[in-house]
Order: sequence, then C-alpha cells, then structure tokens
Amino acid sequence: MQYAFESFLPQFDIKFGKGTLKEVGNLTRRYGNKALLVTGKHSMKKLGFLDETIKYLKDSDIDVTIYDKVEPNPTVAIVDSGAKVAREKNCNVIVALGGGSAIDTAKAIAIGVTHFRNENSSIWDYIPIEGKKSLRITEKTLPIIAITSTSGTGSHVTTYSVITNKETNQKPGFSSNYIFPKVSIVDLDIVSRMSPELTANTGMDVLAHSMESFAYRGYHPMTDIFALRAIELVANNLPKAYSKPDTESRANMAVADTFAGLSIALSGCVLPHAMAHSISGHYPEIAHGLALAIVSPSIMKFNIMKADRETTKRYILIAKTMRKKVSKITKKEALKSVTALEELLKKIGLDKKLSDIGVEKEKIEVMARDAFICMKDCIDYNPTSVKKSDVIKIYQSAM
Ligand code: NDP
Ligand code: MN
Repeated sequence: MQYAFESFLPQFDIKFGKGTLKEVGNLTRRYGNKALLVTGKHSMKKLGFLDETIKYLKDSDIDVTIYDKVEPNPTVAIVDSGAKVAREKNCNVIVALGGGSAIDTAKAIAIGVTHFRNENSSIWDYIPIEGKKSLRITEKTLPIIAITSTSGTGSHVTTYSVITNKETNQKPGFSSNYIFPKVSIVDLDIVSRMSPELTANTGMDVLAHSMESFAYRGYHPMTDIFALRAIELVANNLPKAYSKPDTESRANMAVADTFAGLSIALSGCVLPHAMAHSISGHYPEIAHGLALAIVSPSIMKFNIMKADRETTKRYILIAKTMRKKVSKITKKEALKSVTALEELLKKIGLDKKLSDIGVEKEKIEVMARDAFICMKDCIDYNPTSVKKSDVIKIYQSAM
C-alpha cells in the first residue's frame, strides 16, 4: 500500500461534556458581538435550550437575532432568507443550535452574508455541482459557532454543508475550509434528549461516516484511527442508546459522532452518501440516516464483490471491529461486515426497504443521475469503480 494524502484540519476547538452550553457566551464573544442564532422550528425551543443559549449570549453582551426557520434537509430558500436577515442586522458571527440541518444552514448563511452581491444572489451560486460554474467561497465567510444537538452528522467538526434545492430536487454536499466551525460545543444534556427514532437515524449516519471514510479510495492513515474507533463505539453503544439510553451510551455515541466527523473531514464519504442524498433530495421527508440505512448494505455487497485484496481486508476489519469472528482474507469473510450492519439495523428499527418508505421505482433513474451530478467526489472516491447502471441496480435491490 502506498500512502499519499492531503488533509486540512483547521483550528479544532471543541467543548465536550455535560453543561458545556454555558460556555457559549464567552466563546462566541471572541469572534463577534452581533450573533445570528440559527435553529429549527421546535425542538430546541420546547426543550428550553434556545432560551438558555440566548441568556448565555446576552450575558456576554452579545446582540442576538434569532433565525428559527430551519427544516430537516435544509433548503436554498431558508439559507438565502437567513443571509438577508443577518445582513440587515449587521451580524458578525453565526451561532448554530441544532442537528446537522441547523449547523449546515448556519455554515451556508455565514457564506451568504458576506458574499452575496445583490438581491438576486443565492447560496446555490456558490455550490459546485457537475456542469455548473460556481462562485468562490473566501475568507470573508463569517465565523461559525456550532452547538450540536444530535449524534449525529459530525457537521460540528467538518468543512461540509448540505443544502437542498427544492426546484431541482438536488441535494449536493459542498466543502470549504472557511466553514469549519471556529468552536464546537457538544453538551451531553442536549444530545441526551433525542428520541429513539432520532437516535437511530443519526447513529446510522455516524456509522456510515466511519465505515465510508475507512473504505475511502486510497485510504487515509489518519482517518483510520478515528474511523475504527467510531465503528467500535457505535457497535457497542447504539443499540443501548436506542432502546435503553443511559449516560454512558449517550456519551459514547457523541464521541463516536465527533470521531466520525473528523474521519470525513480528513478524507470523505463514498457511494452510500451519494445515493442517500439523491433519496432525500427527491423525498425531503426522508431522514438522511434512514436513507443511508437502506442503501448501505447493498452498496457494501457491491463493493466487496468487486474489491481488491486491500479493500477486502478493510471490510474484514470493519466486521472484526463490529465483533464478528473472522479468519482468512476472503470475500466471504468480508461479507460479515454486511451481516454485522444488518443485525445492528434490525436492533434499531432501521431494517427497511425503499418501497416501505414511499420511494417510487419511477424515480430511480433520476436519483441515479443526480448522484453523479451532485455527489461526484463520493463516487470517484468509492473503493471500487461505479457506473450509472450499477447505481440503478443497487437502488433496485434496495426497493
Ligand atoms: P436534523 O438536524 O435534520 O434534525 C432532525 C429532527 O430532530 C428535527 O426535527 C429537529 O427538530 C429534531 N432534533 C434535533 N436535535 C434534537 C434533540 N436533541 N432532541 C429532540 N429533537 C431534536 O438531523 P441531523 O442531525 O440528522 O441532520 C441531518 C442533516 O445533516 C441532513 O441534511 C444531512 O444531509 C446533513 N449532514 C451533514 C453533514 C456535514 O458534514 N455537514 C454530514 C452528514 C449529514 P427541529 O426541526 O425542531 O430543530
Ligand atoms: Mn452523513
């Protein structure tokens, strides 16, 4: 194996633990005194964390403008109107309180506020997809403070943001070093309030990030450390966090989320994310983690069948990390990673098919096309080569 890698991990400033939300005022004040506080419509308000955050920010003499319009699988329109509000209020720092949707929206708004040239500007102009020119994202981007409420997307420690264009049903992820949060807060009191369903969906996202970055083409020795540990933590803690959560299983899932986020920040995701984004692009009501749960087993089988020896070894190591007994380096042994995943999905209620959640087979063709247009990097870095006809077959087998 030959190592050649590039990675960018900017300032990494994370406050992890119980009650760390209290620090948000002091930490934000280092970067600005007029904050746009980006959050969803319900959960953080209902659970009291929005009021708490406002109080801590105000205690540190920060003006707060609340933008509570984020929806799961956030859209271009939500970002564009948030950037307008932030500009009108002269905000100089963006604080996100919520799951990946709130954090990704905050990241995109941080770009919009300082980059939009006129009333017609849109974040869509800055998102690169195949066949479309995009404008440059620069150091003008406002600083972002991310308070994560799920375990999770890892968005609090990544350079990625994922925004859906409702007009085209496309859901591309994009990356910029300027949107890596300046500070991330993981408060165990917040993530412990997730429902079982949200725990399962977001826990699957953690597992997908770690498995995909571990299988990333070319491999990445720094990713390996975080990814394998994250896989182990998910295998040992997600079923408990789902069915009988305790402090330990919650904390371990939050650690796994952060490690898996760092894994994808160092390298990236592969085919499951490309295919899952197309599903939520066309069906915004389908949670990201659920889409991943449905396509991942078929994709792993596809990859293992075409795998070279190194890739086979990687899937065997995943199986071993998920407590499967493995012996020789064969495809049969590597397939135990798929069995381990399927068993886990059953325990957390995510052993579903696309047809169970309303995906129509007529959409397969366009979803496959969009995977190549919106998430080309994930396809290029898949450990085995992939054609559109392969993607179509994989969707069909997940129906
Ligand atoms: P969301 O942020 O979409 O939140 C899902 C739902 O859970 C919302 O209804 C939200 O409520 C609610 N919720 C959030 N936190 C809590 C909590 N602690 N207790 C109770 N309810 C809560 O979920 P995810 O974190 O899974 O984010 C998914 C998005 O992130 C997708 O768009 C996905 O593509 C993206 N993503 C981004 C990555 C990145 O690196 N940037 C990587 C992977 C995925 P409410 O709506 O009221 O806020
Ligand atoms: Mn993800």
